[in-house]
Amino acid sequence: MADRAALTTDQRIRRQITITGIVQGVGFRPFIHRLAQKHNIAGSVHNFTGGVVIEAEGNPGDVTAFIKDLPKEKPPIARIEDMSTSELPVAGDSQFVITASREAAGGTILLSPDVATCQDCRRELFDAEDRRYQYPFINCTNCGPRFTIIETVPYDRPNTTMQPFVMCPQCQGEYDDIDDRRYHAQPNACPVCGPHVELVVGDKHYTRDKAVQEAIERLVAGGIVAIKGLGGFHLACDATNEEAVQKLRRRKGREQKPLAIMSASLADIQTYCEVTDEARALLSGPIRPIVLLMQKDSTIAPSVAPDSKYHGAMLPYTPLHHLLLADDRLLALVMTSGNLSEEPLTTQNDEARQRLGHIADGFLLHNRKINIGCDDSVVRPTPLGPIIMRRARGYVPFPIKLERDLGKTLAVGGHFKNTFCLTKGHNAFLSQHIGDLEDAETLEYFKWCVEHLQDVLRVTPDLIAHDLHPSYLSTRYAQQFAKEQGLETVTVQHHHAHIAACMAEHGVAGPVLGVACDGTGYGADGTVWGCEVLVSSYDDYTRAAHLDYVPLPGGEQAIRQPWRMAAVYLDCQRLLDADIKFCQTLDTDTWRVLKQMIEKDINCPLASSAGRLFSAVSALVGLCPVEAYESQSAIMLEAAATEAEEAYSYEITRDNDMLIMQPGPMFHEIVNDLQAGTAIGQISARFHNAFVQMLADTVQQVADETNIGQVALSGGTFQNELVLVGLHHELTKAGFAVLIHKETPPNDGGLALGQAVVAAARNR
Ligand code: ZN
Ligand code: ZN
Ligand code: FE
Repeated sequence: MADRAALTTDQRIRRQITITGIVQGVGFRPFIHRLAQKHNIAGSVHNFTGGVVIEAEGNPGDVTAFIKDLPKEKPPIARIEDMSTSELPVAGDSQFVITASREAAGGTILLSPDVATCQDCRRELFDAEDRRYQYPFINCTNCGPRFTIIETVPYDRPNTTMQPFVMCPQCQGEYDDIDDRRYHAQPNACPVCGPHVELVVGDKHYTRDKAVQEAIERLVAGGIVAIKGLGGFHLACDATNEEAVQKLRRRKGREQKPLAIMSASLADIQTYCEVTDEARALLSGPIRPIVLLMQKDSTIAPSVAPDSKYHGAMLPYTPLHHLLLADDRLLALVMTSGNLSEEPLTTQNDEARQRLGHIADGFLLHNRKINIGCDDSVVRPTPLGPIIMRRARGYVPFPIKLERDLGKTLAVGGHFKNTFCLTKGHNAFLSQHIGDLEDAETLEYFKWCVEHLQDVLRVTPDLIAHDLHPSYLSTRYAQQFAKEQGLETVTVQHHHAHIAACMAEHGVAGPVLGVACDGTGYGADGTVWGCEVLVSSYDDYTRAAHLDYVPLPGGEQAIRQPWRMAAVYLDCQRLLDADIKFCQTLDTDTWRVLKQMIEKDINCPLASSAGRLFSAVSALVGLCPVEAYESQSAIMLEAAATEAEEAYSYEITRDNDMLIMQPGPMFHEIVNDLQAGTAIGQISARFHNAFVQMLADTVQQVADETNIGQVALSGGTFQNELVLVGLHHELTKAGFAVLIHKETPPNDGGLALGQAVVAAARNR
């Protein structure tokens, strides 16, 4: 202070610093206040629509240090999108003050995603002296619920589901105190004034501490408890209790799909999974996704992830999770979404008791309303960085930053793993995972989520993008919406959208060679596409290569029953009489019917789909003749692979301008390997190598003709690490620049971003 007073004004400088991003409701102004004091800075800070403005005055060295430290020391959940500095005349301030918020036209307020309980709150949670000791709703400006409790903007308590809880004097004191960690923490609460938990078991009700204690006892005893969380309900049971896990599977009707598990600490997770440094960072960061980790021999019940090499594990992200898992008797809890198959997420107490009543023995409820559902996110660490497989809690509603101004575009996404995307200038807001848009209920949920996002972002779209598939519910919704609002629609081919999403993430306008591999997407020629090389820019594409077509006998049925695809591929190669188990045990009666359907072209759409090729091989080697869940055959095939140098053969043929990838020779060699008794792990590895080489070769040939050196990889198949890392390696070695998804899922969960980018490029 003395130093500053001694400084004459002509030795001082004054700078205006404008910061946009997630800088409101995250403890930003108190942080600036503290930082200003540390560096002897006078001046002010205030919020405006879209960010904060700081006026910093002091001697030049201090001001420079202040500006330098600001992004480095920012609050953990703040996100700085842009920071600009300009000179101001010295005003001679003697203090640093927070001044009133100001309105500014056109600014975009970014809302924060939900944030896992911070270290400070966790410490207080287990501190018997703290007034929030064992309080399941402890939070502060650095953590707690955000997106899931926001009903409308601005983000103030009355606009959240915390509105019914009136802060007690102590909480209010913290809320008003600039030096407090809970200054302007909208969900601030304590046992006196905040929400509470309740355990309902039959007609018994347990409240507060008793509820948590009783829930733990039920879990330890092998019971199933439905637990209300941040963005929905989980169904929980002791993950080390085989009987309990089997009971949960039986009641939920989910026989095989791996179940997510949660443990109290990294040390606990390390007892049953390999945790690499990268995985450690993902597990313990503020997002807290489910992370796919290699299993170890452990006490985890076999039924948690049968036939899988991985566990989907996560750390606690709410105080309630911490309390439940603090009990030493629980190494890990199964924490699977409290919904039935692909129904929308259950978020309300009554709804949960009604829908999950036949599954759960008890309900651990609370009275803080979930305004909008948000599933757990799922990521998979790879040598190329994490792949986001499901983008929801912790990520949403962070925008994806775009090079181009997309205006106000609504893209409705696809059919499976639906998400939608709303753009505002250079920001693309990709919604949380909605699910498969197959029934009226999910569609209603989807509509509501679209309305909610429009409201909280203050965006009314003036352009609508949808998939080329005429009968997707998302397509029909888009057309209806456009008609009602008098807007234009743009139709976007599925794989063009995949590639455009990957390009947009990297701000690359192309043209690129887009390698799109997945299960199903409606092709421009009316067939099913899913293994294509597209020469793609934002507004247009040409299909340069594709996997050779095969019929899908029975359409959807051929997807669910990989054995049909194996039979189709073998039949094409005249291998159906081979001396291998698959052919000996083939259901010949059913096959005869299917063969007739193929010959008469009845319900046998043609497909060039990577997903079906993987399915065929998976069934052929005996891994997965019938799928119990989506993509199971490909997941099992990848999991089975061991190391191999060899690759099967393939051909690339030409039909006019089109290159056709022919996997036929692979099947001859797989049959030979099966006859020779080669291990399935080797067969799988050789197949993966062949698939990668076939794509790399094809890309090289297209590149030779087009002189394009940039490649984008997208589509659900790139969740397969062997394909992603293998192809990335081959193409990089060959001198290509290779773009992969970093911020959005390569699967259909990222489709909407691509649709928005393509639509805007065509229309603007
Ligand atoms: Zn906290
Ligand atoms: Zn209170
Ligand atoms: Fe797709």
